[in-house]
Amino acid sequence: MEVRDKIYIDGAWVPSTGKGTLEVFDSNTEEVIGTIPEGTAEDADRAISAASAAFGEWSALSHEERSKLLARVAEGLAARTDEIAQTISQEVGMPLSLAKIVQVGLPTGVFADIAKKVTEFEWETELGNSLIVREPVGVVGAITPWNYPLYQISLKVAPALAAGCTVVLKPSEIAPLNAFALADIFHDIGFPAGVFNLVTGVGNVVGEAIASHPKVDMVSFTGSTRAGKRVMTLAAESVKKVALELGGKSANILLEDADIDAAIPGSLFACYINSGQTCSALTRLVVPRSKLAEIEEKAKAAAEGFVPGNSLEATTTLGPLASAVQRDRVRGYIEKGLSEGAKLVTGGTEPPEGLDKGYFVRPTVFSNVTRDMTIAQEEIFGPVLSILPYDTEEEAIAIANDSIYGLSGGVWSTDKAHAERVARRLRTGQVDINGGAFNAVAPFGGFKQSGVGRERGEFGLEEFLEYKSLQR
Ligand code: NAD
Repeated sequence: MEVRDKIYIDGAWVPSTGKGTLEVFDSNTEEVIGTIPEGTAEDADRAISAASAAFGEWSALSHEERSKLLARVAEGLAARTDEIAQTISQEVGMPLSLAKIVQVGLPTGVFADIAKKVTEFEWETELGNSLIVREPVGVVGAITPWNYPLYQISLKVAPALAAGCTVVLKPSEIAPLNAFALADIFHDIGFPAGVFNLVTGVGNVVGEAIASHPKVDMVSFTGSTRAGKRVMTLAAESVKKVALELGGKSANILLEDADIDAAIPGSLFACYINSGQTCSALTRLVVPRSKLAEIEEKAKAAAEGFVPGNSLEATTTLGPLASAVQRDRVRGYIEKGLSEGAKLVTGGTEPPEGLDKGYFVRPTVFSNVTRDMTIAQEEIFGPVLSILPYDTEEEAIAIANDSIYGLSGGVWSTDKAHAERVARRLRTGQVDINGGAFNAVAPFGGFKQSGVGRERGEFGLEEFLEYKSLQR
């Protein structure tokens, strides 16, 4: 049981001004594994004032000095990989071996990469009689979700600090313990006071206090489209810069000439990774109607090949969801799919056999899903795949683009050029061709209601910069 009873403000662990605590649950067992302070708007205000006071000195440091400190954060995370991975695996439900690579390895890489990038980046360029200089945007409020908690934190905190900004972080209340570990690392390294601050609490209190605070220059938010809209509305009052990484309902198109045997296992993985709690999950499989029966059969076998279980057990390939609320939400969507007339290929609303305790959902596949069904339109955020058949390629593209979202996508074809032509027509921020490998520095972000702005690599660093032109 991890009891964290302080928040991190101005280089020190201090009590919250509120009395409340929030519980953190093991998603495998439903047991409480930790408690955190339920912060207040006043806490947010103190943290923002500290970040504001620290901005001048931090932004004036050389890039080399900032780089050295950021490299040490990567080292600090690497040294605590096993412990942090286990915590996140319990908080979120991702199988432990994968959590080490994804939930801790990726954020460690983000800090290491930005430490390097900050010294290579072109901070100044000449343009005619102008010198264009890049300057930090100022105080950044970072608000993050629970599904890849430390990774989403790193994608904001690392480039913001590299740019010369100071940060107030409000992590998800569902998976917050990793953020405390990160704050410990900042503290042990001896980052200047006020450069990084951590205030925990619920979104409509601490999150809204950050989004509406006049001293916050930019809000970088990752989470649901619903909360993102609220953040954007609040930020408008003081015309903050806003970066939003929101939801998705991404389509994965199997073209007529796709290699189905290769495509199906890859497509199921791209939908079920992290039990489907992935914003860029490929949750709509768009397939030629002529091959529907074969695809259903293979998708059923692939889905049933996942082994649900405790995320800490080595045999598990599909862990639980992060919370009871999320489990019930996902089961509700499965019920909706049934009531709206989709064909259940495998799975359903019952918990997987022998897993009555814990936030488990059966790996589920629906077929004969039509564009108007709820399970074709709304983000489910669980291990639920919707198969939508098409008759022509034009129709496949239209189905893929028939969404308020535009975060990710996939195209499968044995003719790569053909796949690329189709990929270019998808209104979405990323497209994986034939299961194209993850690229940690390629820009990531959404079209349409999936968000505003891009994260990762150099593109992510640019988000935290203002451009200034000096005419000479
Ligand atoms: P959420 O919107 O409920 O919460 C995200 C964060 O926002 C939390 O820290 C929460 O406390 C805070 N929050 C909630 N209401 C708020 C408000 N009114 N004002 C300010 N802050 C508020 O999302 P979640 O359930 O934690 O995460 C799942 C969602 O995140 C999914 O929709 C998923 O697609 C999305 N997501 C997007 C990306 C991306 O990069 N596009 C990545 C991961 C998750």
